[in-house]
Order: sequence, then structure tokens, then C-alpha cells
Amino acid sequence: MADILEIIKSRDPNEIEFCQAVKEVIDSVKPVLDQNPHYRQSAILERIVEPERIVTFRVPWLDDQGNVIVNRGFCVEMNSSIGPYKSGLRFHPSVNQSILKFLAFEQVFKNALTTLPLGGGAGGSDFDPKGKSDDEMMRFCQNFMRELYHHIGANTDIPTGDIGVGAREIGYLFGMYKKLSNEFTGALTGKGLNWGGSLIRPQAAGYGCVYFAAEMLATRNLSLDGQVCLVSGSGNVAQHTTEKLIELGAKVATLSDSSGYIFDPEGIDQTKLAHIKRLKNVRRGRIEEYRVTYPGASYTAADPTLDYNPLWCHRAACVFPCATQNEINEKDAYNLINNNVKLVCEGANMPCTSEAIDILLDKRLLYAPGKAANAGGVAVSGLEMVQNSMRLNWLGEEVDNRLKIIMNGIHKTCLDAAEAYETPGNYLNGANISGFVKVVDAMLDQGVV
Ligand code: NAP
Repeated sequence: MADILEIIKSRDPNEIEFCQAVKEVIDSVKPVLDQNPHYRQSAILERIVEPERIVTFRVPWLDDQGNVIVNRGFCVEMNSSIGPYKSGLRFHPSVNQSILKFLAFEQVFKNALTTLPLGGGAGGSDFDPKGKSDDEMMRFCQNFMRELYHHIGANTDIPTGDIGVGAREIGYLFGMYKKLSNEFTGALTGKGLNWGGSLIRPQAAGYGCVYFAAEMLATRNLSLDGQVCLVSGSGNVAQHTTEKLIELGAKVATLSDSSGYIFDPEGIDQTKLAHIKRLKNVRRGRIEEYRVTYPGASYTAADPTLDYNPLWCHRAACVFPCATQNEINEKDAYNLINNNVKLVCEGANMPCTSEAIDILLDKRLLYAPGKAANAGGVAVSGLEMVQNSMRLNWLGEEVDNRLKIIMNGIHKTCLDAAEAYETPGNYLNGANISGFVKVVDAMLDQGVV
């Protein structure tokens, strides 16, 4: 077990996030490997941690002043044993091979949990969307797609959005894909509603996360009604997590961006959330500006000298990290516990460090890993692909019902697998084990390829 991590570390010593994601899975699946020696005999771990393909490429583009800027593009195709690669595209200056390999690795197990026939991948660029005009964004997306289109397709790799890639970017990417391929196919998801998109896709990751949290609370005879919640981020996942929480009677007290966070003691209601959506999605402003319209709220600027995030110090029952990886560390985890938090449900991918997870599990909090809790996003992307293949659009109610069924199914799958391997209530082990078994069995069926 330790060997595989040593192999990864010696091959790619700088891939810290990827190692973290792999370690989490192999820690969970150790009993599965012990009970099934054929997995080790067929070197399944060595195979599953190695991406099937990685492409890196130059993305040159012109800014509004006519300067040529060069960014780096990536396409990581991790595992296609149960279906075509289904990936998220991330545009953020922190993007590198380690980040995208961790996202792709997580995606493999997440997609298996949805029960849909989807493999896993990830892509993106170290391009920073902040402060870019619409024209710059369009030129960047078009040049990014000039290379990416060689590698994607409705039956090959079907990207959707992630950090920095929302409805506007998917539009520019799809337009260029269509022009280059001369085909109108569902090679991307998260498309606009009148050009192949699915109702509920923008909401799916956030809504699904809240459906999952409600199921977890129900195992302890609790509900979201009246619960105070802390949410981080203010992008797609945070907005729709907040929306569903408000709908189910919870009180959301915080939202954030990379500059800082707001705390609204009265709670963020649907009117305030509509204001945040305009601020973030249309004006592309900073969360700090919330205070101008709602002076009862406070704003705390991010302080890089602190070794904890004060957002997680507020009293609350439920916590939804929905911004980025490693945003809850060991100290944050202790702060949550000291404040009697009952549930941590990950809207983002890998937002808790390994040390934080150990503490949450040790204290028997309800803890859901992102690969289970935020799988609603990719699940509805899968449903968008189904609708595109059928050339049909389902009603929003139908998609939402299917999303609920999928999230409830993932919840049950996690609990059943955790129970079967003698860690009842451990959603982390349950998610990792059930995703792993499905994928590696498919790999073994398909031979050494
Ligand atoms: P998004 O719309 O781009 O929003 C990201 C939010 O997180 C923004 O508020 C951003 O603030 C904040 N953020 C990003 N990097 C940060 C950092 N280093 N420190 C603090 N805040 C940071 O992205 P999203 O789609 O909501 O994705 C959020 C998370 O959910 C990611 O982990 C993503 O992988 C995961 N996820 C997304 C989906 C989906 O369908 N979109 C599905 C499943 C999981 P700034 O604006 O200041 O950068």
C-alpha cells in the first residue's frame, strides 16, 4: 500500500494534491484489497493511478491592448473503463498538472457513484479570468478550444465547467468546437438552454449537495429546517447550495470569495441571494460589495498570515465548503468541533485536508466527501448527454426528480459499502470503496490495456 504512494512521489514529487487524493482512496480500499487478492495480483493500483493520457498545449491569445499572452492548456484523461471521459474544465492561475490529476482522479470514482456510464478526466488552464473583458474571454476560449477539440467528442471526452468556467465560457468553447468539428453534438455539457443544455444543470451540484446533506441528517432524525449553515465560495456551487438550503428552511450566514467573506447574522434570503447572483455572475464583482446593499452584514478580508479561516469560527450546525481544495485545515476542523457543528458536506472537491478529515471522522461528525456530495453536477451533465442523444429536452421537474433519486442512491450506496466493510456511517470509506470496486472490476474485464 505504501509502495504505490512512494512510486507516485518519486515519479512526480511535486504533485502534492494528486498524492493527497490517491492516499485518501487507498487508505479506504485497503480492506477491499485484502479480501480480493486478485486486485493486487493484477497491479490494479499501479494502473488506476496512472492517467490513460495527458496532453499539454500552448494557448496563445491577444489581450485588448493587442499583446500576445501565452497560457498553458491541459487535458487529463484518467480512466475510461466505464464510459467516455467526463471532465470539468478549470481556468485559474493555480492550475497545474497536480491539480488536474487530483480532480481527474476524484472524478473517476464520483462518476462511478452516479450509476451513469461515465469515465473520469479533467482539463483547464493557468489562465486567470479575473478582470478579463468578454472579448478577451472569448479569444482565450477560442484559442484553448483550437487544440482541445482534437481530444474531445460526444463519445470520447465531454468537458463541462469548473472553477472559472461558467455559462459564458461554455458558450464560447462550444461555438468554437462546433465551427472546428462542423458538427452540432453534445461534446460539452453545461450548455445554454436553447442550444442543447439541460434544465437544472446550473443548479445540480449545489442542489445535489443539499439533498445529500438532508439524507445524512435524516439518519440522526434531524432536518435542515431552522439550521444555521456556513457556506464558503460564491460561485456556481455556493450559490445553488445556498438557494436550496434557504428553500428547505435553513439559515445561511456566510459566503466568500478569494478576497474574504461576508457574515450576515440575519441570514441570506432569496432576495439577497438574487443580489449576489447579479453581483457575481453579471457584474463580476467582489463579495465585499454585499455590505454596501446590506450594511447589517460584516466583511472580513482574507488574511494569508493566519493559519485558520475565521469563516469557520462562526456558530453553526451545518457546514458546506463550496470554494476550492484544502480550504478546511486541521485548525479549522477543531474550530468547527468546538462550535458543535454536526455536519460537513463538501460542495467543492477535496476542500478538507487529510488531517481535517481525520479529526471530523474521529469526532463522529456527519462528513460527506465531495466525490459523493457534489456528484449531482456531473450526474445532470450525464442527463444532458442523454437528452442530447435523444434530441429531447426534459422538464425541469423531471431532471430534478432524477437528481434526487441519484443523490439518494449515492447516499445509500455509501452507507451500504461502509457497513459492509465494518466502518458504519463512514461516508468517505463508503464512497471510495463503491466507486473503486465498480471501476476496477470494469478494468479487469477489459484486460491489460
Ligand atoms: P466558480 O463558480 O468559479 O466559483 C468558485 C468560488 O470559489 C469563487 O467564489 C472563488 O472566488 C472561490 N475560490 C476559488 N479559488 C479560491 C481560493 N484559492 N481561495 C478562496 N476562494 C477561492 O466555481 P464552482 O463551479 O462553484 O466550483 C467550486 C468548487 O466546486 C470547486 O472545487 C469545483 O471543483 C467544485 N465542483 C463544481 C461543480 C460544477 O458543476 N461547477 C461540480 C462539482 C464540484 P474568486 O472569485 O475570488 O476566485
